[in-house]
Amino acid sequence: MADPSSLNRARRAADLRALADGEAVDLLVIGAGVSGAGVAVDAASRGLSVGLIDAQDLAFGTSRWSSKLVHGGLRYLAKGDVGIAHESAVERDVLMQSTAPHLIRALPMVTPIGTSVPRHLTPLNVAALGAAEALRMAAGTPRARLPRPRLIGVDAARSYFPRMQTKGVRRAFLTFDGQVSDDARLVVALARTAAREGAKVLTYCRAEAVRPGAVTVADAIGGASFEIRARHVINATGVWADTIDPTVALKPSKGVHLVFDGERLGSPTAALMVAVPGTISRYVFFLPQLDGRVILGLTDDLSDTIEDEAKAEPADVAFLLETANRALGEALTPDDVVGTYAGYRPLLAGSSGTSADLSRRHAVHEGAHGMLSLVGGKLTTYRRMAEDAVDALVSRPGLSAGPCRTRTLPLVGATEPSSEWLGARYGSEAPRLRERMASEPALAERVVPGLPYTRAELVWAVEHEGALTAADLLDRRTRIGFVPSDREAARPIAEQLAGA
Ligand SMILES: Cc1cc2nc3c(=O)[nH]c(=O)nc-3n(C[C@H](O)[C@H](O)[C@H](O)COP(=O)(O)OP(=O)(O)OC[C@H]3O[C@@H](n4cnc5c(N)ncnc54)[C@H](O)[C@@H]3O)c2cc1C
Repeated sequence: MADPSSLNRARRAADLRALADGEAVDLLVIGAGVSGAGVAVDAASRGLSVGLIDAQDLAFGTSRWSSKLVHGGLRYLAKGDVGIAHESAVERDVLMQSTAPHLIRALPMVTPIGTSVPRHLTPLNVAALGAAEALRMAAGTPRARLPRPRLIGVDAARSYFPRMQTKGVRRAFLTFDGQVSDDARLVVALARTAAREGAKVLTYCRAEAVRPGAVTVADAIGGASFEIRARHVINATGVWADTIDPTVALKPSKGVHLVFDGERLGSPTAALMVAVPGTISRYVFFLPQLDGRVILGLTDDLSDTIEDEAKAEPADVAFLLETANRALGEALTPDDVVGTYAGYRPLLAGSSGTSADLSRRHAVHEGAHGMLSLVGGKLTTYRRMAEDAVDALVSRPGLSAGPCRTRTLPLVGATEPSSEWLGARYGSEAPRLRERMASEPALAERVVPGLPYTRAELVWAVEHEGALTAADLLDRRTRIGFVPSDREAARPIAEQLAGA
């Protein structure tokens, strides 16, 4: 029997036909980022019939451009926002312990005292260590999953981050937070979990018009437009939410990351945190990735325009390098940057101040014809956001649904965490990829020399993860595309496999 969680061309064609032929759904979710995919999982697992559409691919929008941190909310505590800090810590716990332990690991983070933070700030930072522990304990996350923060000596700090500046540094803070192995893969796991629970998932289907009872959709693959009959609609289109419901008010903020070869930084195994001078709780950070690259983030600037794919500007690169170099033994230059990426945070309007100060809260907004829009929030708290949105929906008369199940509902692939490449990305499905490679050795070949991605992963993405184009494979099912030269080298094989 076909795996009910598998998304592929044949499944898309069958689901599209059913919806275009007039099969009605209780709920149509517009937008398949982390928020919309989360809503689809929540609603489908409560027994509602659900459609999930995206104008592009799964995770095409902001959800693939995050820092990939599943964070405990310490930064919000520093601003006195206890509620959002606690909510973040609880959701981090849900992901790490129940729903996606295979995708989330405890990331060690080093903050050298004397360079990354000045010595006179130390009492504040020591208080932050206690607060981080309090949040972990309040959420019930065991120390085995998220080790205790502590002070370490300079040699220990350097063993985590070999290229850190040691002059003037005697000690460092060592803290831990959650890191998702790949934010786009979290979205793919959510979409497949929704499919497993019965949802119909259609990528490359843009919502063009919403009216009571139906949404007009343009299919970019088949080229036709059709109507989906939907009793209810939830708009989860992130920074594009006001294109579906003009009464939604957002204040998007652009965030830029730079990408480096890990070897240039001594192949670090921990993040390196550097306080932004003149701020209280703002840092730039180097974050080691599983594929051997290191990303450096991040900027936070209000933006009036939204492009489909945002770009880093020279001023963003200069700010990040200048701030981060304060904590490095040997300064990085723009020539060391092998890739950049940028995305927009869908922040709620209505607050004042710089975007770094704007709330990361979420809201469920009711607009025309009773359409709900789920806006704001962040990757870490997607599950709670989805629960709130579906709770608002099912409180309406005439819709019968069970209680929310997503606190304990394992996502596709959920199993114990693993530090091994396939285990950390595919979880319980990793053995099936290994079997494929054993039976077809050509699939064990690397897609690009120097990166761990194998051809088997591309084939798997086409057969089970809904990849339809070469860009889906290079930019969302894998992250080969972070570095333009790697993307170019991998493009022919991705085109061949996506077309097959
Ligand atoms: C630089 C940066 C770093 C971040 N780092 C973190 C972090 O480390 N941890 C954390 O918790 N959060 C982080 N966040 C926040 C987090 O990434 C976002 O809050 C979250 O990804 C938003 O997801 P979303 O599903 O609401 O929007 P999106 O991911 O943007 O999804 C919206 C989707 O709607 C689709 N769409 C748009 N219009 C239509 C239409 N007409 N029809 C159909 N589909 C449509 C788009 O194609 C898109 O796929 C970060 C954000 C940024 C920008």
